[in-house]
Amino acid sequence: MSDLMIDKGKRQLGPSDLKVSPIAYGMWRFAGEGEIEANAKVESALDAGITLFDTADVYGLDSDAPFGAAEELFGHVLKARPALRDQMVIASKGGIIPGTPYDSSAKYLREACEASLKRLQIETIDLYQVHRPDLLTHPAELADTLQSLRKEGKIREYGLSNVTAHQIAALQAHLDHPMATQQPELSALAIEPVTDGILDLCMATNMTPLAWSPLAGGRLMLHASEAPTSQLSDVITMLDKLADKHAASRTAIALAFVLAHPSQPIAIIGSQTPARIADAMSALDVTLSRQDWYAIYEAALGAPLP
Ligand code: NAP
Repeated sequence: MSDLMIDKGKRQLGPSDLKVSPIAYGMWRFAGEGEIEANAKVESALDAGITLFDTADVYGLDSDAPFGAAEELFGHVLKARPALRDQMVIASKGGIIPGTPYDSSAKYLREACEASLKRLQIETIDLYQVHRPDLLTHPAELADTLQSLRKEGKIREYGLSNVTAHQIAALQAHLDHPMATQQPELSALAIEPVTDGILDLCMATNMTPLAWSPLAGGRLMLHASEAPTSQLSDVITMLDKLADKHAASRTAIALAFVLAHPSQPIAIIGSQTPARIADAMSALDVTLSRQDWYAIYEAALGAPLP
């Protein structure tokens, strides 16, 4: 039986020439503290070997900070230490307007991207992602906007997030330059992308999946007895069983489940605790067997596969 070795080397983002660590640092929960704390988090991610930093214009709102707060804080860190920029690939997102809720029209997305550049205080966003599908923008218009922003050097590559396989294909039909990434929710609890066509399409058309909330936003870290659903409790119990078997942490097993998929996803971790950011990298040392992987998958599915 073949084991699922995780490639520890840098992963290429789709067909682009951007290469990044298999684990990325997510900045959804980044705002709300000061610049010293922000610096420490960025530093611990870089020290751990993380080179992809994923933010969005809307990040920070959950912590009652204003729209743009997470990008702005990151921008201060980058401005104070310009040498950091060369060590990282910066991803951001636009297209959400709280209350609207989505706008990917040419006019708005261009403004959003330019505002992100200003807040981040950088010349180019390496990877610009449309955060959620705007059902009212024709894919031809979106393709034109993304390609124009790229030609102007404002973004290097682009991708989508939270879309269906059909929505990806509709945009692909209008693009001259291929998309680099897709960003679905993917974890040992959120297994839908494995079969809903997203990861298949990534493998078919050479896009890199970026897995958001790979620890299910921390829910996978609860004690099994605190789990609000039997599905979560079963997954946690299975992760702990395999953590014992592999002498690894539960975090490492949960992340290894994501990283071992043949589409070569990058796991975007979201911890704001420097020690936990460093610990996440231990996932790269875990080699799950096929049986281990399917055992987690079946626990999440709530039924054995036929
Ligand atoms: P996650 O890694 O699944 O969850 C992180 C949360 O788990 C943090 O609140 C962390 O708390 C908590 N946690 C508890 N125990 C932990 C442990 N032992 N190790 C690590 N974390 C532990 O990721 P996420 O924050 O939900 O999302 C990650 C990133 O995905 C975001 O920052 C964002 O970049 C991206 N994302 C994208 C979308 C989208 O729509 N595209 C949506 C959501 C997220 P502490 O901070 O206290 O450690």
